[in-house]
Amino acid sequence: MQKETIAIHAGYDKKQGNGEMAVPISQTTAYAFRDSEHAANLFALKELGPIYTRLTNPTSDVLEQRFAQLEGGAAGIATASGASAIFYSIANVAEAGDNIIISDKLYGGSVTLFYFTLKRFGISVKVFNSDDASNLEELIDDKTKAIFFESLSNPQIAIPAIEKIVEVAKKHGIITICDNTVASAALFNPIEWGVDVSVHSTSKYTSGNGTALGGIIVERDGLAEFFKKNVARYPHFSTPDASYHGLVYTDVPLPNFCLRIRLSLLRDIGATPSPHNSWLLIQSLETLGLRVDKHSDNALEVAKFLESHPKVKKVSYPGLKSDKYYEKAQKYFKGGKASGLISFEVSSFEEAKKVIDSVKLFSVVVNIGDSKSLITHPASTTHSQMTPEELVKAGVNPVTVRLSIGLENTADLIQDLNQALN
Ligand SMILES: *Cc1c(COP(=O)(O)O)cnc(C)c1O
Repeated sequence: MQKETIAIHAGYDKKQGNGEMAVPISQTTAYAFRDSEHAANLFALKELGPIYTRLTNPTSDVLEQRFAQLEGGAAGIATASGASAIFYSIANVAEAGDNIIISDKLYGGSVTLFYFTLKRFGISVKVFNSDDASNLEELIDDKTKAIFFESLSNPQIAIPAIEKIVEVAKKHGIITICDNTVASAALFNPIEWGVDVSVHSTSKYTSGNGTALGGIIVERDGLAEFFKKNVARYPHFSTPDASYHGLVYTDVPLPNFCLRIRLSLLRDIGATPSPHNSWLLIQSLETLGLRVDKHSDNALEVAKFLESHPKVKKVSYPGLKSDKYYEKAQKYFKGGKASGLISFEVSSFEEAKKVIDSVKLFSVVVNIGDSKSLITHPASTTHSQMTPEELVKAGVNPVTVRLSIGLENTADLIQDLNQALN
């Protein structure tokens, strides 16, 4: 099936239940077992079925299957937020004493997770240059458990050297995790390019109207074989899990990465999505392709306007021919489309503030991927926890303004920016 069809039909059989055309919301915490044997079989994984919504839920299950197919993956696991999806994807492979290698251009919330919170759990980070991955290989050691990057980074609007990253990771048998939130499953599918795990904040383009927080983790097919082959680096998948009566994940014929998250991290930490949010995200997914195409077309028009404006010093948008990442957008993203984020620089911090305080149609919001256009000043908000040196390294500077272009008519958006700049 093609993506547009998957987004509307996958993972749900209308002929079950009462034949509901819309996926029903299973708004329940627990599920009745037929008898004690049924209950015991479910706990022993001899039979698959819902036990408790912290672990699985039929509505979230449809979202997981649909999204996994959309990404070309073997399985997915939905979480309460993008932040928890990222934390779980790392905690699934790394523990105290280990390290992960991260891109130098990441979402602010991921930066604080990696630099501060994971550090408290004894997991350290090393940083590679994502533009060319030239220093990636030299950072790898025996304790390196994952390489993490964003396919279209927020807010630098940068596209990494994806093929090179995957090549180095495969050579050393290290899991690659790609945050695909901004490109979205409509424009890019990391797994098709050899990435092992794709993570998303579904709160952004997937939701599309800023109504439901969510995250999802999708794994490629064949990770059980990978874990068996790389047992020294990833012992937990092929040795008995004492917390799950000695279960060996690689012996179970289910996609291993998501299985271990569900049976241990989701069980013990429980950042589970609400069934209602999963249902909202299922509705949104139906129009993801249409929306992201339109976000991209609108953003390209706005970026061209900004590029021609005398008060704008620099525009970053990979759909522009003048952009540093134009070739990569053409190579990796569907139709060379580049999603809805633009950043631009004006002459001073005061000028940046003036623009943000003068717009009327754009909302001043630290979100992205909404149908409504949004404007932010990253240095004083999303990236304000970083030191000036860290900001420079992350490519965020005080004169940068970030836009998330919505689905309005571009004539209105351009008029609003024009009056704010003048
Ligand atoms: C928003 C965002 C996250 C965090 O997701 P939440 O759903 O807000 O927890 C992670 N990565 C990227 C790229 C994001 O834009």
